[in-house]
Amino acid sequence: MISSECEPIRVRGSAVLMSRAFPICLALAAVFAANRVALAIDHVTYRVDGQLEQRDGQVVAEKAGALLFMTPDLRLTLVQADEVVEHTVDDEDFEPLDRKALEAELLAELPEGFQVYKRPKHFMIAHNTSQAYARWCAALLERLYSAFVNYWDKQGFEVSEPDTPLVVLVFADRASFNRYARSEIGVAADSVIGYYSLTSNRMCIFDLTGVEAAARNDPRHSISEQRIQQLLSRPESERRVATVVHEATHLLAFNCGLHQRMADIPLWVSEGVAIYFETPDVGSNRGWRTIGGVNRVRLAEFRRYLPRRPADSLETLIADNGRFRNTTDAADAYGEAWALTYYLLERHTDAYHRYLKSLADRQPLDNDTPEKRLAAFREAFGEDIGALDRDMVRYIQQLR
Ligand SMILES: [Zn+2]
Repeated sequence: MISSECEPIRVRGSAVLMSRAFPICLALAAVFAANRVALAIDHVTYRVDGQLEQRDGQVVAEKAGALLFMTPDLRLTLVQADEVVEHTVDDEDFEPLDRKALEAELLAELPEGFQVYKRPKHFMIAHNTSQAYARWCAALLERLYSAFVNYWDKQGFEVSEPDTPLVVLVFADRASFNRYARSEIGVAADSVIGYYSLTSNRMCIFDLTGVEAAARNDPRHSISEQRIQQLLSRPESERRVATVVHEATHLLAFNCGLHQRMADIPLWVSEGVAIYFETPDVGSNRGWRTIGGVNRVRLAEFRRYLPRRPADSLETLIADNGRFRNTTDAADAYGEAWALTYYLLERHTDAYHRYLKSLADRQPLDNDTPEKRLAAFREAFGEDIGALDRDMVRYIQQLR
């Protein structure tokens, strides 16, 4: 199963699941969007841990006999060539679950006490929190959705509406979050406060305020949206809200045609985009300062890195994802990914758009070598990475 082959990347309490062989985990929604109704359903029987599993869905990529398989809930499974027992195809249409079927599936799967918050247009929020907390999450997510779509629209970059409601699981407390998250990301669950899974295509978070747990322990604690807003408006909550925005941006980017799950999207790109959006203004109803404003936290990270930044830093950031996976280097990599994304969007906008588009068109499981990644970067932004690097550092240094 693909989830067992994935390892989480943890930075400041958030995680996106990435596979060891990076391309396994990136991208697919755009592939799916492009083939909204496929002309066939694949029936795959495979053996995993000595047990036979049978799934109906769609094979979205095939490589050396391995099948990347998507079920109607948009969950991806990578079945290795030697695990495939039988694979047949019929001529029925493949379609994703509609809202009603998705809701039924979620409620059947999740522990008792979960319900689905009905109102959001683009999301399906399954929660075991109060209605007030679910409402706060729904409002934040829908505002982010509008901001995300408007931003790319203004940039002249076409994004698409997701095919199905985007699933967000909201847990009332750390304990119930951990129980679920451990089945998806293992022990990493204990050290994150939210994540987006590229395999399940779900985002998971838990109550950031503690009001839910307090209310359970003492029924005199009432939970109101005002109280939640008040708690999350405190300056110390900024990074927590930023994490929710960051993970939700991944969810949107992988479902609105910006990236594809399981394609070889460099981490500096997918993380750079998520960081670009994570500038919440917890004190305002709008939720954000300007989208694409200077990210003070990441700017500070990048500035702290500068004195010890090696000459080939940009090349190592671009060539592979190693620095994001190494806990000692990850903060530097995230700061640099923000700096590069910010600089390219400000100073090389058209080239960045063309580069993003070329990534969005990539096929799942088709992985680049470091040399190919660097070549694609040079093709998009010019041969002289050193000159671009110097210009980027100069530009970022003068930001206030
Ligand atoms: Zn991320």
